[in-house]
Formats: sequence, structure tokens, C-alpha cells
Amino acid sequence: RFPEPAPRAGRSRLVVLAGPTAVGKGTVAAAIARNHPEIHLSVSATTRAPRPGEVDGEHYYFVDDAEFDRLVDAGELLEHATVHNRFRYGTPKAPIDAALADGRTVLLEIDLQGARQVRAAAPDATLVFLLPPSWDELVQRLVGRGTEGEEERARRLKTAKVELASQGEFDHHVVNDDVDRAAAEIAALAH
Ligand code: 5GP
Repeated sequence: RFPEPAPRAGRSRLVVLAGPTAVGKGTVAAAIARNHPEIHLSVSATTRAPRPGEVDGEHYYFVDDAEFDRLVDAGELLEHATVHNRFRYGTPKAPIDAALADGRTVLLEIDLQGARQVRAAAPDATLVFLLPPSWDELVQRLVGRGTEGEEERARRLKTAKVELASQGEFDHHVVNDDVDRAAAEIAALAH
């Protein structure tokens, strides 16, 4: 048996926000960033196309498959995953290292597979799971935002069931009944 590692002096400043599709992770993460400019919100790379209103470098770095491969091969991503069996998403490592070196808290809004990889790479990361008030509410939100067709919605709800079943792996569970309230609860965990 190996000796236990010494307890860490400070709390981790790497906070992962995960949760099922359409639960409002993006909206809550944006609210945290808006209300707490000292927290660094990670911008992911993705092979998915921008939605109307999404800005390259702000919401995501929109890249093609070849560029995503290059990022993976060069070891430039902290974690990466294919989400909903379709597009690839990953967290660029360098901006996070820079923010942590600056003493800033870093917030990652990623999926369950990514959360697991971050936990493995940084065991002291704080993992937060965002929950919908109810399953029906989740379905309503997904239908209501109207950004996915029928087939894509079904795919995402299937993934959501798997993700909800894994919430026990997370350190904290926050219900997104109100965006500002949920954002404040998560920001409090991050300090
Ligand atoms: P969307 O296409 O709706 O913006 O995001 C789809 C899913 O990809 C969401 O569950 C989101 O959390 C996840 N996601 C976004 N960025 C990353 C990332 O960098 N890594 C991983 N693993 N998942 C991500």
C-alpha cells in the first residue's frame, strides 16, 4: 500500500460543470462568467458548425477534423471527446495553465466523458453536476430551444439518461431552477 498523499493546502481552482443536454450549462456558465469576471471560462474547440449568433473564439473555436486531429496529436487538449456520437469537442490546455498560474479559478463546461478525463488528469478538480428541475422540464427545454431536429433530439435525450445516471460521480449537484441562483451557487463552490 502506498502512503496517502499529503492533504492539499488550498482548494482546487479547476471547476468542471457538466450535466445533460439542454439543462442550461451554457447559460449558467455564461452567467457565472458575467457576474464573476475573475473566473476564467474555458473556450472549447469543436468540429460542429456554429449556430446562428455563435462567435468563433468566444463560444467555441470552430475547427475542422484535420485541425482537431492536430490538436490531439500535439497534446494541446486537456481532454477531448466525441459527444452525442457526432462532433468532437476538446478543452485547450494552454489557456487553462495560464489562468491557473495567474491564480484564477477556471470553469470548464464539458460533457460527462470530459469530466471523467479531467478527474483522472487533475484529481482535485471540483466536479459539479447541473440538474434539471425534472425530466419533463428537460424535454420541454430541448424541444423549446428548437435547435435540433427530431432525430438529434432523440439522440441527445438518450445521452441525457446515461449522464443523469452518472451524477453520483460528481462532488456537487446543483438544480437549474433559476439561472442566476444556480450560477451563484456554483460560483460559491469555486471560491
Ligand atoms: P453543444 O453542441 O450543444 O454546444 O454542446 C454539446 C455538448 O458538448 C455539451 O454537453 C457540452 O457540454 C459538450 N462540450 C462542449 N465543449 C466540450 C469540451 O471541450 N469537451 C467535452 N468533453 N465536451 C464538451
